[in-house]
Amino acid sequence: MTMGDPIEPVSTLINQLSRLPGIGTRTAQRLAYHIINMGEAQVRELAEAIFYAKKKIRFCTVCGNISVAEKCAICADPSRTDEIVCVVRDAKDVLAMERTREFSGKYHVLGGTISPMEGIGPDQIRIRALLGRIQEGRVKEIILATNPDVEGEATAVYISRLVKPLGVRATRIAHGVPVGADLEYTDEVTLSKALEGRRDM
Ligand SMILES: [Zn+2]
Repeated sequence: MTMGDPIEPVSTLINQLSRLPGIGTRTAQRLAYHIINMGEAQVRELAEAIFYAKKKIRFCTVCGNISVAEKCAICADPSRTDEIVCVVRDAKDVLAMERTREFSGKYHVLGGTISPMEGIGPDQIRIRALLGRIQEGRVKEIILATNPDVEGEATAVYISRLVKPLGVRATRIAHGVPVGADLEYTDEVTLSKALEGRRDM
C-alpha cells in the first residue's frame, strides 16, 4: 500500500461501487468520496433505498418482468392485448420499449441471450416459459426485440424456428437500431420506427 491508496474502509466502498456496471475505478472513487461527505441521514436513505428495492422486487410469474406483485402491471392490464408478445432480453428493455408508447401487447423477458461462448444455452433462458404461454393459445405474433448483436440475432432466429411451427407469426424489429447497440440506449423515435418496420422472420 502506498500513500496514494485510499484507507480502509473507503477502499472497501470503492471496491463495491466499482463492481457495478459502467463504474470504473475513477468513478467509484469519486462516488465513494462523495458518499463520505454526505449527511448521515442521506447516506442511510440511499442504503435503505438499495436494500428496499432489492427486497420488494420480484419477477412476474408470467413474463419475467420486475414486479411487486405476482403479476406485473403490464400483464395485469386488461387493456393490453395477449395476442402480441414482445420478446426482450432484460427487464430494462421493457422500459425502453414502453418509452416508445407504441406497443400495446405483452412482453416476455428472457433473462439473457443464447451465448455458447458464455455457456448459456436455450435452457438457461426463459424460452420454455415462452412456449408455455404460446400453448395457452392466445398468442398470434411474437416480436423478437433482442439486441441486434450476435447473441441477440442468434436467439431471435432460434426462437422464430421454435414458434413458427406452432402457427405463430415471428417478426424481428427493423434495423433502425444500430448493429451492436443496446435497446436500453436506443432513443424512442428509433425504437418506434424499428417496431413499426418489423419484418417476418
Ligand atoms: Zn408480467
